[in-house]
Amino acid sequence: MKTVGDSVLKKVAPKVENIDEEIQELSLNMIETMKAARGIGLAAPQVGISLRMVVVDMGYMEYDKLVSEGKEPEEAEVIPVVMINPEIIEREGHYEMEEGCLSVPGYRALIERAGNIRYRYTDLEGKTVEREAVDLEAVCVQHEIDHLDGTLFIDKVSRIKRRTALKKVEKYLANIKNYEEDSFEHRLYG
Ligand code: ZN
Repeated sequence: MKTVGDSVLKKVAPKVENIDEEIQELSLNMIETMKAARGIGLAAPQVGISLRMVVVDMGYMEYDKLVSEGKEPEEAEVIPVVMINPEIIEREGHYEMEEGCLSVPGYRALIERAGNIRYRYTDLEGKTVEREAVDLEAVCVQHEIDHLDGTLFIDKVSRIKRRTALKKVEKYLANIKNYEEDSFEHRLYG
């Protein structure tokens, strides 16, 4: 897992041109990495590949929606969705949520984003998919697409908070043996 400070996270990633075997393999790698870290989303630059590709756990999105409706669903089932060249085509409203990031472990902050979006991506079969999303799904998709543009959520907080974040990450990484084997109790990381 690439963490803040790694140059790949600062790059604007180029588009995926062909959905070939390499892309299929990368998607499997990303799904495994997301599952292992218990993230709800992951962008290719986070595994060191500068390409416009993300995975999102739609199972958790569904679970979160049921919880917010006051229902008591069973544990969330992981349903990974691979999005190639995702882009937001409409954004509306505001939604503030505490965000975390697998590339900024040990720190969370309230971030305001659009609460309602329409977005588009190409799936692994090459089909164009268009979706509307609110709340958590909207936040997650915006967070992941930010990764493709070289932006981390801590780029959206004040300079003081950013400094705190970097210290916390440093401390976090110094205190664990192997980040890859660590997983987060809290699921809201992407
Ligand atoms: Zn992230």
